[in-house]
Amino acid sequence: MRYISTRGHDAGQRFCDILLEGLAPDGGLYLPASYPQVDDATLTRWRRLPYAELAFEILSLYVDDIPADDLRAICRRTYTREVFGTDAIVPLRPLVDKTGSSGGDAAPLYLEALSNGPTLAFKDMAMQLLGNLFEYELKRRGETLNILGATSGDTGSAAEYAMRGKRGVSVFMTSPRGRMSPFQQAQMFSLMDDNIHNIAIDGVFDDCQDLVKAVSGDLAFKRKYRIGTVNSINWARLVAQVVYYFAGYFQATTANAQQVRFTVPSGNFGNVCAGHVARMMGLPIDLLVVATNENDVLDEFFRTGRYRVRSSADTHETSSPSMDISKASNFERFVFDLVGRDAARLGDLFGAQLARQGFFDLGADAVFTQAASRFGFASGRSTHADRLATIRSTFEDCGEMVDTHTADGIKVARAHLHATHPMIVLETALPIKFAATIVEALGRQPVRPPQFEGIELRPRRVTDLAADLPAIKAFIVAHCEPVAA
Ligand SMILES: *Cc1c(COP(=O)(O)O)cnc(C)c1O
Repeated sequence: MRYISTRGHDAGQRFCDILLEGLAPDGGLYLPASYPQVDDATLTRWRRLPYAELAFEILSLYVDDIPADDLRAICRRTYTREVFGTDAIVPLRPLVDKTGSSGGDAAPLYLEALSNGPTLAFKDMAMQLLGNLFEYELKRRGETLNILGATSGDTGSAAEYAMRGKRGVSVFMTSPRGRMSPFQQAQMFSLMDDNIHNIAIDGVFDDCQDLVKAVSGDLAFKRKYRIGTVNSINWARLVAQVVYYFAGYFQATTANAQQVRFTVPSGNFGNVCAGHVARMMGLPIDLLVVATNENDVLDEFFRTGRYRVRSSADTHETSSPSMDISKASNFERFVFDLVGRDAARLGDLFGAQLARQGFFDLGADAVFTQAASRFGFASGRSTHADRLATIRSTFEDCGEMVDTHTADGIKVARAHLHATHPMIVLETALPIKFAATIVEALGRQPVRPPQFEGIELRPRRVTDLAADLPAIKAFIVAHCEPVAA
């Protein structure tokens, strides 16, 4: 499989070439030159596979530069009951009210559990694989990598739990001091592994991100200290997420003629973009529903065709904070397909128009009306009040406690139920990560998985630094993984 950039760059790169890279050299995002097609017989064969084997089959279609036995071993090592809590890895559970219905005469509504990994958010699904792929590829090349990132919560902890103890890789994760939830802080700061470095920055999330950009922008420093990232535009993360759309589909159906819908709580469009890829491969998904919170950049696009990025002053701090985005960094991949993979057109939209005026508008364009018909997308938006009401009704009527992001998904999904196509809402985090809002909604503490009992009381390993570039660089130099022998 060859990988191309959404802006046209095509240097014949293969999977492992782009595994350790961020953006393509022309500023675009990598995509496979074409989507492998999955036929009916293959779907039938895949129905019976355990998750790790399914992951291997799907990854094999995109990875031709890792020997099959090695790739299979990586998948088996990643998707285990020990790490994800169940043999199904991503079990589906129906959301039924006391009358036994999911709402009117509609087909069932399911939650797909993606949040039973080490950090209790769906980012573990891809990040755990990435950790094993990185370790494998760095060893093969005899290289080391220092991952530098900024987090306001879920990404940082998922990256740290995926990379902890891995050879050849260190993590330097900046976060805004005192601004993550107490549980999220405890998750990250209680890690004692030598290769994990928590840096609490005196500032807000944007200060952390600016520092990361400034360090990465110093190309000499970046090269000398082998600085890399694990952000959500990484293609390997995306392809790992494709797997659970197949796994969810197989659990909700008994035959390949059946169609399903997915609703995806969305921020950077990474998760739902994997659903788009799954459907492009031939998975029978009749509708992908994008659910946003008050930061409704994506809902606005799917309603009007206008993609308008927000300023940081215009970005709301909400109770589903992992969806608080000002622009959707993976969205370019979908728009590339939407405009018929026309790299020049894409470059005009994202390179020229967005840079010049902060938006582009496809509302009057035929490609946009096809977004609904040809690609089957819909969207909706949820507010703090909706979130509280959904958490409450889901608990009281269905006996399920859901987190704030999943609640946004359920709220939006209910407006898109179908008579015969089951609806699958992706559960993107567990409620314990966002306890304050659960208490606000239900007047009680969320359930805490036993391995996190007393985590707030454990010793902490975190360094406080000012939002100061030289200070960050000095810290990295003093702690980075030495060059491999
Ligand atoms: C990251 C995250 C999201 C948003 O996912 P995207 O891939 O950015 O769309 C939603 N919910 C939770 C809990 C997350 O951590």
